[in-house]
Amino acid sequence: MPEFQLRTHTKREMVDITDRVSELVGRSGIDEGICHVYVPHATAAIVINENADPNLCTDILEALDRQVPDGVWRHDRIDSNGAAHIQAAILGPGETMPVAAERLVLGTWQAIMLVELDGPRDRRVVVTVI
Ligand code: ZN
Repeated sequence: MPEFQLRTHTKREMVDITDRVSELVGRSGIDEGICHVYVPHATAAIVINENADPNLCTDILEALDRQVPDGVWRHDRIDSNGAAHIQAAILGPGETMPVAAERLVLGTWQAIMLVELDGPRDRRVVVTVI
């Protein structure tokens, strides 16, 4: 199963992985189908959104922090990362998108991003193209 790894550098950040996913789609030989991008982690997520304005990624992370603040959850008593788990659960571990003419079908302003919520860590991204 195609996958790649990356290292995140801060507690919370969004990493654009569009090029790495596109490369695996190109290598898959699938002309028309579906691409699923998945992180096998409980404190990271995958989103598709804009990455042209870097402020938007900061806004998304800030919005998550306002809704789900650090340090007030039962899980914090044993692992001190309850907010990261809840934010990851809200965003979800994967996204699915169409493939046409051996390319991802993404809008002009759409990028695939790994959302790190409890870094820095090594993260795996699993890409399934069928
Ligand atoms: Zn935990």
